[in-house]
Amino acid sequence: MEDGFRDNDISKVVEADRAHVWHHLVQHKPFETGEPRIITEGKGIHVWDQRGVKHLDGVSGGVWTVNVGYGRESIANAVRDQLIKLNYFAGAAGTIPGAIFAEKLIEKMPGLTRVYYCNSGSEANEKAFKMVRQIAHKKYGGKKTKILYRDRDYHGTTIGALSAGGQDQRNAQYGPFAPDFVRVPHCLEYRAGDQNAPVENYGEWAADQIEQVILAEGPETVGALCLEPITAGGGVIVPPEGYWPRVQEICRKYDILLHIDEVVCGVGRTGTWFGYQHYGIEPDFVTMAKGVASGYAAIACCVTSERVFDMFKESPEDPMDYFRDISTFGGCTAGPAAAIENMRIIEDENLLDNTVAMGDRLLKNFEALAEKHKVIGEVRGKGLFAGIELVADRQTRAPADEKQCAQIVAECAKRQVIIGVTNRSVPGYNNTLTFSPALIATPDHIDEISNAVDESLTAVFG
Ligand code: PMP
Repeated sequence: MEDGFRDNDISKVVEADRAHVWHHLVQHKPFETGEPRIITEGKGIHVWDQRGVKHLDGVSGGVWTVNVGYGRESIANAVRDQLIKLNYFAGAAGTIPGAIFAEKLIEKMPGLTRVYYCNSGSEANEKAFKMVRQIAHKKYGGKKTKILYRDRDYHGTTIGALSAGGQDQRNAQYGPFAPDFVRVPHCLEYRAGDQNAPVENYGEWAADQIEQVILAEGPETVGALCLEPITAGGGVIVPPEGYWPRVQEICRKYDILLHIDEVVCGVGRTGTWFGYQHYGIEPDFVTMAKGVASGYAAIACCVTSERVFDMFKESPEDPMDYFRDISTFGGCTAGPAAAIENMRIIEDENLLDNTVAMGDRLLKNFEALAEKHKVIGEVRGKGLFAGIELVADRQTRAPADEKQCAQIVAECAKRQVIIGVTNRSVPGYNNTLTFSPALIATPDHIDEISNAVDESLTAVFG
């Protein structure tokens, strides 16, 4: 591949896109005069656009997905071989790659035993919600149907998942939502002042706020608590010390199932296989999607403990007594075939270690930038998953102007580095730059990202 790559017919592609593709997450007005961005190729950590311009992808395919990088022939070959052998079979039957990947995945998740296949992060979360509801009906006489979710967390785009959505700008205009989803407060220590929280032991305090909600709702009505291990699109919120042990304790105390949404953190992103593994949590459900096959095929999983599976133990005389759910494309074999190879790559190339080392470098670089740029309020992250919260004033911590925050993304793009920003999600707080480069990032890539951010901050904020 050459830097100057350009398909002769690319202008037709742009026209077809402009005329017929409804893009995700954007207004289309700008495409009337400007061109939509078309990504034409990828290799390693880089992608090329329709003009042949090479970009360093600092966000793994836009939404923290392509963990092992682009152009992996071994994954393409594994998928190809599998598709020729058997592309699909669903319903009650299993498949060879489905069984093999489930076993490999479970090896990485002590305490969990069952993998339920589906297609997207939203769907995986919906599966967990449905399991919780069915358990409520089966075991608790129709009580314990409530599912708690957290302010600033996101669990997907379907109406059920949006009902558990803690980002009000994403939810606006899509209600009414499903009943019995109840919000608990966030745990962003930097914003503790907004919650009138004490300065000491913020982590325990934030967890105790969950308990307050449980007590107000009635513990006998609450079935599950669904949380991101590290909040992604809500501002890269790394939970404070003391938070997770207390959350686990509260769940046990009130017999509440703990559902961890690993759609972003899962499969290496934070330097462990799963984000929850930093905190010694023992979840009942873990949902995952993006990094499972790094976007080489669509696959998502809802993984449960044997305790959850056991709650579905059938009484043979009742024909309705099982998890009456299906996912048509949960029977695609390309997903698990790609996921097996994706996992092998992470292991053989020591990408978890690389993620820890490169993540440290990224955070150190950003902390150095904070010395120079007063607009940086806080740098947060774990592994190759980082955020920079921008503020108008360090004293008051008033968020920086969100248009200016978005301009940083455009400035970085001019420097051929793609980064993200929390965008139309939490009202008033679309002020965090986001980073999630592929786990194969080298020191040069990390420094290139930080240099682009440095120059862009100067260009926008002076
Ligand atoms: N959970 C989290 C934490 C996410 O960030 C996302 C997507 N960004 C989802 C769930 C939904 O995943 P999907 O878009 O695959 O439905």
